[in-house]
Amino acid sequence: MVLEPRAENGLRDVRVAIVGAGFGGIGTAIRLREAGYDDLVILERDAGLGGTWWANTYPGCACDVAAHLYSFSFALNPDWSRFFAPQAEILDYLRRVARERGIEPLIRFGTEVTGARWDEDASHWRVETNRGEFSAQVLVSAAGGLTEPKLPLVPGLDSFTGTMFHSARWDHGHDLRGERVGVIGTGSTASQIVPEVQPHVERLTVFQRSPGWVLPRLDHPHSDFQKRLLRRYPVLQRAIRSAVYYNNELLILGLVRRPRLLTGLERLALRYLERQVPDAQIRAKLTPDYRIGCKRVIISSDFLKTFMEPNVDLVTDGIREIVPDGIVTRDGRKIELDTIVFATGFDVMNPPHYRHVVGREGRSIREVWDEGGIRAYLGTVIPGFPNHFALLGPNTASGNNSALQPIEAQIGYAIDALRAMDARGATAVDVRPDVMERFDGEIQRRLAPTVWNNGGCHSWYVGPDGRNFTTWPAFANEYKRRLARFDPAEFELTSAPVAAAV
Ligand code: NAP
Repeated sequence: MVLEPRAENGLRDVRVAIVGAGFGGIGTAIRLREAGYDDLVILERDAGLGGTWWANTYPGCACDVAAHLYSFSFALNPDWSRFFAPQAEILDYLRRVARERGIEPLIRFGTEVTGARWDEDASHWRVETNRGEFSAQVLVSAAGGLTEPKLPLVPGLDSFTGTMFHSARWDHGHDLRGERVGVIGTGSTASQIVPEVQPHVERLTVFQRSPGWVLPRLDHPHSDFQKRLLRRYPVLQRAIRSAVYYNNELLILGLVRRPRLLTGLERLALRYLERQVPDAQIRAKLTPDYRIGCKRVIISSDFLKTFMEPNVDLVTDGIREIVPDGIVTRDGRKIELDTIVFATGFDVMNPPHYRHVVGREGRSIREVWDEGGIRAYLGTVIPGFPNHFALLGPNTASGNNSALQPIEAQIGYAIDALRAMDARGATAVDVRPDVMERFDGEIQRRLAPTVWNNGGCHSWYVGPDGRNFTTWPAFANEYKRRLARFDPAEFELTSAPVAAAV
């Protein structure tokens, strides 16, 4: 490989370009370097590393997956302050890991990918950014699937004269104290915001379209003694990690194989709701009419009981329009508001990155997906996009388990692909369309009977075309097993002349 030190704005031709400096991007860089691949860069559009944990700073932001599991398998942290870590601590952890592993100098902050075009002759990606161009033989998309805030399509959205912002763009300069605040949405994010802001505002109105199933978060602080113990005996931490992992995986048994196993969990959640919300009318509004797990289960010990507070209203009549001084519901009631918080989720699997990556046929990933559905072999590689690896791509989510499980499997797979390329003198690997078709058929067949597809809810797991493009229809272990080895037979390998290589 010929490396040209065209160092414009810190950018030069590299072997691997990683898009995104969240858990995926940082993890990829660490593992690549451990495997001997040092020639890499991380492109990060934001001013800091952390990805979702950098962008989401709303009050109460925390991870509802236990910290011992929501951390890299190769960088355990005995110092978690509590069982479920808050956002700031997760961000600190990732910063520390990046610093200690020497990854920080590889990151180009404020660098947004504006285009990436496959150059067939040179067998590399021509990457365009707001700070210049360069080439990379391999492109790893670690841009995340939940990055683009989604605002509801409600008439009058722009007419509101108060303050409004999305949960992922929290306005810390704005003081909610003493205000009349509306929160739209009752998903995982809202469940963390609502209890946190309620004590400070004059009136809190929560606009719910459909209620979520809620299970308690069994959180507790870690004592100094516990931390010392974990530091001294890492095996203990691995044991906790495994226990949490397999406990979360139990849910998959009901979601995928035996839905009737979910009945016990539903009973538990209903009993919990009854204890938290003694008011029968409010409780009725908060009772889901679909199977648990159909949408992501909310893990919170303070969300439900907040609806019993005297300054909180739960509105379920639907939103007709937003007016300059509030929200009008479908039944014509106007609720006057000073601030509206949109906890309405994300435009899933639609980061700008996928619109910018243009493959062999001159079409972007987005265009290919718009035509043929959102899909990727093993949620990672797409025919016609050689040497491109997407982390947390389609059908990799596990519902309520740690996203770092599929991420680490995908990183290992990309590294194995690089090794296979080197061993065979290949400059490009492109997954065979028939391999992808067979895989997609299998995944969609296996998803058909699951609770995600059939549980009686509308969720962003399933697109308007009826395809479930988000969840993995099996235990995470199967996913890890299938990505454990890169099989060159499933790919078309190309060897471009050396002079034309990157
Ligand atoms: P979400 O799960 O997509 O929930 C969005 C909420 O907004 C839903 O309650 C939805 O109602 C509601 N909504 C959307 N449009 C609406 C409208 N026009 N009127 C009224 N309500 C409307 O988004 P999220 O809560 O931000 O969570 C997104 C993802 O982020 C989660 O699934 C999870 O993967 C991640 N997350 C993780 C954690 C964690 O602790 N690990 C915490 C927060 C978020 P419907 O339910 O009726 O659609």
